[in-house]
Amino acid sequence: AIKDAARAERVLQGESRQKDRADRATTEQVLDPRTRLILFKLIANGVFAKIDGCLSTGKEANVYFARRGPEAEASFDLAVKVYKTSILVFRDRERYVDGEHRFRRGYAKAKNPRKMVRLWAEKELRNYKRLVSAGVRAPRPVLLKANVLAMEFIGDDGWPAPRLKDTGLEGPALRAAYKQTMRAMRALYRRCRLVHGDLSEYNLLWYGGEIVVIDVSQAVDVDHPRAMDFLRGDCKNMTDFFGGVDDALTTRELFDFVMSP
Ligand code: ADP
Ligand code: MN
Repeated sequence: AIKDAARAERVLQGESRQKDRADRATTEQVLDPRTRLILFKLIANGVFAKIDGCLSTGKEANVYFARRGPEAEASFDLAVKVYKTSILVFRDRERYVDGEHRFRRGYAKAKNPRKMVRLWAEKELRNYKRLVSAGVRAPRPVLLKANVLAMEFIGDDGWPAPRLKDTGLEGPALRAAYKQTMRAMRALYRRCRLVHGDLSEYNLLWYGGEIVVIDVSQAVDVDHPRAMDFLRGDCKNMTDFFGGVDDALTTRELFDFVMSP
């Protein structure tokens, strides 16, 4: 086992020297030493064979592709979501946390951004678990270490499934996606007791003819004081996106359907 952070850091740098310049820049700017150490250890322990590309760089997190290593328990490759540890990007998330009984206490205690970010990562892990156990198609979470969440990679051989936005679906396929989205929203509400809160064509993947729900760190319990506002927003986004579906529901009808027994 590698215990010495400085040594791990040297190894990481040595490794990145072999990569191309752009890749190195991404690695070195975004990942702080502690995060790099976590990733390094996961490779050293054989959980990841290697981290092989960046799937997304976002405001709050980056997502990397990792091939599963010999010691991985899961039988699939991984998407590794690394939450950024700067406090500023997490400011506007407070509206999701206020009134969220699962996290209020911990959040109030979180005195530094690292702790806060860890809570967000933990929240996403727990939400993914709820979705998966309720049978809603979503990446299966695999492990959480501080601000690093590894989950099932949705895609083939390192090629990620497209976001719904990028599919160009039309006709019967678009209708199928719409019906699945309706059912997923209702299952999320009724079986998981969650409202996604950021549901859009950016946070739904399309894989093997199936809708896959992602990005659930901000999802709230249905008893959150603003849950109904968030649900209305989710319904509006979906109604706008699926406007091309024959006979699609209005935002209001979709909202009622999601809440119906
Ligand atoms: P953000 O908060 O940055 O929007 P997301 O969880 O939505 O984070 O992930 C960003 C992007 O990374 C997604 O739009 C998707 O393209 C890709 N991604 C995230 N999770 C997975 C996954 N499990 N499998 C494949 N691609 C993923
Ligand atoms: Mn997203």
